[in-house]
Amino acid sequence: SHDAPPSMPWFGMDIGGTLTKLVYFEPTDLSEAEEESEVETIKNIRKYLKSNSAYGETGHRDAHLQMENVRVGNHTGTLHFIRFPTSEMPNFLELSKSKGMATLASTICATGGGAYKFEEDFQREVNLTLHKFDELDCLIRGIEYIEDNNMDRECYYFLNPRSEDLCEKVTFDFSDPYPFLVVNIGSGVSILAVDGPDNYRRVSGTSLGGGTFLGLSCLLTGCKTFEEAIELAAQGNNENVDKLVRDIYGGDYQRFGLGGDIVASSFGQMNSAEKRAKVSREDLACATLITITNNIGSIARMVAANEKIEKVLFVGNFLRVNPISMKLLSHAMEFWSGGQLKAIFLEHEVCLGVVGTDIEGTVVSKNSSTCNSKVRGYFGAVGSMLELMR
Ligand code: ADP
Repeated sequence: SHDAPPSMPWFGMDIGGTLTKLVYFEPTDLSEAEEESEVETIKNIRKYLKSNSAYGETGHRDAHLQMENVRVGNHTGTLHFIRFPTSEMPNFLELSKSKGMATLASTICATGGGAYKFEEDFQREVNLTLHKFDELDCLIRGIEYIEDNNMDRECYYFLNPRSEDLCEKVTFDFSDPYPFLVVNIGSGVSILAVDGPDNYRRVSGTSLGGGTFLGLSCLLTGCKTFEEAIELAAQGNNENVDKLVRDIYGGDYQRFGLGGDIVASSFGQMNSAEKRAKVSREDLACATLITITNNIGSIARMVAANEKIEKVLFVGNFLRVNPISMKLLSHAMEFWSGGQLKAIFLEHEVCLGVVGTDIEGTVVSKNSSTCNSKVRGYFGAVGSMLELMR
């Protein structure tokens, strides 16, 4: 642990396989003397970070996620959340260089595979030393921190996830959290069992994750972005693509309690040229989303049963603007476990401007933008910044 916190600016960075997540801590309690002594470059960088809500073509500041009055190190301030595709890293370095980052000779906390991959580029281009931390340590630390700062309203689950009208978002009391499972759905998927504070194991994972959904959607529908893939999926019908129990049995498979509308074979109709001729891009995106989501749900459920854990926390950017998957996971966890397992999600604020959402647990809007205001993709980046303060 450190005697004095490192000098500002404080950033946390999570350089993932698809997205780079950047968290910036802006102190709001600096004394006049402290502010005076700040170098011009820091002031400029701060102004730049705050002024734009879109960074060029591909960068994006999630202004709605911003967290005020948080405590980091020995300061109080605001957390800002920024993301951009990892493939844009050369442009990001170029921009940082042009803003004078190199003159600060500072240290930046970084996690994710890219912290290793891009380490030399950061040193060479902007004179930055990456302080590297393990991504799973950061994820857990980030979750615990965000949880602590929002107390009783951070966690929620869905009641009646399958019903358009009855679906409700309900606050989940996470004050006695251990043990719980974390399913991190990024490009790939990692599953962690958290037994207590600072005590977790990586128990499983799968390469069929968010990157697979996006990659297959692009191949099958010609779409270009994650948002587009999700929009298409929301308008499609997987029953034109998948083979259901009723396609095989003509109805339910009663002996084992399998309803006719359960998917028996994902993409199972697509061997027929006739069916392929009739299928739409929307249907294909929908089936892809459901295939990937159900597979993750099923693995999570088996791990939970194995580990005898009943609380399953789903995080990662695959769930961004993706209520279909969240509700599907909620249903799958509950249904297949006979009501024993709960799928839990995190957020840190009221979803401003969205009809019907409320932290107290009222009806969730059907608007897909509901899920915009979630910090779930940033836990690693927050955690990496906190690691430096230890
Ligand atoms: P990683 O650290 O592996 O990049 P993330 O938690 O950031 O993982 O999740 C990446 C996944 O999130 C993508 O594979 C995709 O499914 C989804 N996603 C959500 N928003 C976007 C976006 N704007 N661009 C690309 N992928 C996105």
